[in-house]
Amino acid sequence: MTHIIEVNQLRKSFGTLDVLKQVSFNVEPGEVIAVIGPSGSGKSTMLRSLIHLEDISGGTIRIQDQTLVDNGRYAGAADIRKMTDRMGMVFQHFNLFPHLTVQDNLELAPKTLKKESSSVIRYRSLELLGKVGLSDKADVYPGNLSGGQKQRVAIARALMMQPDILLFDEPTSALDPELTGEVLRVIKQLAQENMTMMIVTHEMGFARDVADRVFFMDNGEIAEAGPPEQIFGNPRLARTRTFLQRVK
Ligand code: ADP
Ligand code: MG
Repeated sequence: MTHIIEVNQLRKSFGTLDVLKQVSFNVEPGEVIAVIGPSGSGKSTMLRSLIHLEDISGGTIRIQDQTLVDNGRYAGAADIRKMTDRMGMVFQHFNLFPHLTVQDNLELAPKTLKKESSSVIRYRSLELLGKVGLSDKADVYPGNLSGGQKQRVAIARALMMQPDILLFDEPTSALDPELTGEVLRVIKQLAQENMTMMIVTHEMGFARDVADRVFFMDNGEIAEAGPPEQIFGNPRLARTRTFLQRVK
């Protein structure tokens, strides 16, 4: 396998609004990409397109050498499912099921798929709760957790499907500042374990620390991409510099 994600000339419009304009990039296995940029620049739409939460308007997306969409033409539903099953996504607002315990939140998707025994699933859910530091919360309902704990549950839930790629859309934006650290530490640990990740974030210190490359999105395109030292230390474009000065 060469690139784990390959995107060429991706376009997405909502009606007459061109939200993504010819976006092209590759991601290598084990790479961590931080996606930064102003609100409305298309960051969420780009991630959502990769996991087929959006139908794109044109362009090509390849995931692990399989074609999700080729020049705007999508693969069949079963093939799409095979590709998107290899990816997990974590959202700003956790999206946990409030009527299920933490452990049942983790086990719902794998149990629905019925490809593994319930004891295998149970073993993994307890293991992953340990990994995110929430072994004691298995039987608790999400309503009784802090935002940081909810987000760690959401990460563990995404890991239950044993994804090869994790997508994060502003995982700490809904959290009180004192709770962001516990979530960022879990993501950083995944980076150290060579999980391939794309992370939309406003945490510039974190992006600098954890990313192999940073994509600066502006107005529906990746305006500048490069290693954190370049983007944060010596950006080539004036608009990258302007954005970074504003968020500091
Ligand atoms: P970001 O995540 O960078 O803030 P988004 O990808 O959410 O940007 O949105 C990019 C643009 O697309 C914004 O102008 C937003 O209003 C618009 N947009 C996003 N989703 C929809 C939708 N479902 N329908 C119409 N417009 C949308
Ligand atoms: Mg967004």
